[in-house]
Amino acid sequence: MENTQKRIFVCEMLQESNSFNPVLSGFEEFEIRKPMRLKKAGATIDGMIACVQENGMIPVVGLCMRAKSGGPVDHAVVDSFVEKTAKELKNAGRIDGVLVSMHGATLSDVSDDVCGDILEKIREEVGENMVVSIACDLHANVTEKMMRYADYICGYQTYPHVDHYQVGYRAAMLAIRHIRGDRAKMAYVSVPIMASAHGYTTGTGALSNLMRRAEAMVEEGKILDFTVFQVQPWLDIKEIGSVIVVIACDENAAKAAACDLAMEEFDIRREIQGEKLYSVSEVIKEALDNDTDKPVILVDSADSPNAGATGDNAAVLEALLPYSDKLHAAVSITDPIAVEKAFSVGVGNKCDFMIGAALAPGLSRPVCVKNALVKSLHDGDFTLYGPAERGCVRNIGKTAVLKVGQLMIHISCLTQNNGDLNFYRNFGIEPTLCRLVSLKVCTSFRAGYEPISAKICNASTPGAACPDLMALPYKNLPTPFFPFSEISEDMISEPKCFR
Ligand SMILES: [Zn+2]
Repeated sequence: MENTQKRIFVCEMLQESNSFNPVLSGFEEFEIRKPMRLKKAGATIDGMIACVQENGMIPVVGLCMRAKSGGPVDHAVVDSFVEKTAKELKNAGRIDGVLVSMHGATLSDVSDDVCGDILEKIREEVGENMVVSIACDLHANVTEKMMRYADYICGYQTYPHVDHYQVGYRAAMLAIRHIRGDRAKMAYVSVPIMASAHGYTTGTGALSNLMRRAEAMVEEGKILDFTVFQVQPWLDIKEIGSVIVVIACDENAAKAAACDLAMEEFDIRREIQGEKLYSVSEVIKEALDNDTDKPVILVDSADSPNAGATGDNAAVLEALLPYSDKLHAAVSITDPIAVEKAFSVGVGNKCDFMIGAALAPGLSRPVCVKNALVKSLHDGDFTLYGPAERGCVRNIGKTAVLKVGQLMIHISCLTQNNGDLNFYRNFGIEPTLCRLVSLKVCTSFRAGYEPISAKICNASTPGAACPDLMALPYKNLPTPFFPFSEISEDMISEPKCFR
């Protein structure tokens, strides 16, 4: 007897691109990984696989590759993913549906719409009638091409993101319904708006209200699924916008809900831009005046590797140097050249160092640090304190800690998980004992740092993920586009269904 159990193909290609980071993300940046197959928690593909199995279907797992955020992807990586995935689809035997986990804001050196390109190729491979459902980041730039080739697009409904597993589960469930004959319709409305990522969360404020209203629509059964794609702002491309995607049983219901939510997105455009940014010298003053025994946190999000920046600007270090005698502070910079020098100088010795602008020399400038003591040298392993990914080990390459007066300078070959308490602590710098701690992160640090800090100050600093959008050298954005120019309601796109 023929096996009638349905089979769903699952694959992943994840990378978030930043147009202003000049360093291409090549093969060496990507890791190929097997799903962990965790239950009720874990990554997007884990949620996809669990949903497929719980519904009595068989997951057929294809290539899953991911890189941390960074500059645009070397297109050879994209070609290789597409080629291997096409081959796996051919060799997979009978397939009833396809699930893809992708970021949704991926650029390459030849394409502004890598996710659209990948979906086009997958569609070519599987034909018009097979269901293709995808899961993305809330910060995706959902394009018309993505809408044309995917039946369903779901994104995170949380920021900071904590629903990786759930978004995979939602995308899989829509595909499973479709396979069972319950086809839904997906509508799209684009609003010409972007906002800096420090300006909003889905937990409080204007965006949170919008999310709660959309969730109520799902609970009341008016729609099946929604995503407010708050596009990440470090994309300098022509087709861009914050997109509302709504999935419902009926096309008109999907379109009406998408228009309704898009109107609210338009209405809150100012509120989600974020509070005033501090100058670095204002934050230093806050730290000098601080009479609690907790540190002031300087958020150098412009240079956050999570947002695709290089982590190599020394602007905060430069501002802290004159206060090195009176302010116990910690600052970190990615600079492989300075690290090599520290290793050759050796622990306990002093030397002059040029630090900064090692990876993106066009975005910031190096700083001369005179007579710095090499305090300690490390292999770069550290264990995450959490709560996110608590206990996981990260490696940031060879790392050195330099000391000038009371200023501790953490220099490493790579930067990741900079917002974890152990990023400093495991290298001998105790953040709770500092008066000022500088972090190259956007929001992920809050869970660890909020309980131990006196004050958190978002600072205006240079970098590829600059939170002051007006300071970035955009060349390709459409016009008008908020906040660069004022927009009116009639600039919200008409609702569209593509499939
Ligand atoms: Zn995101």
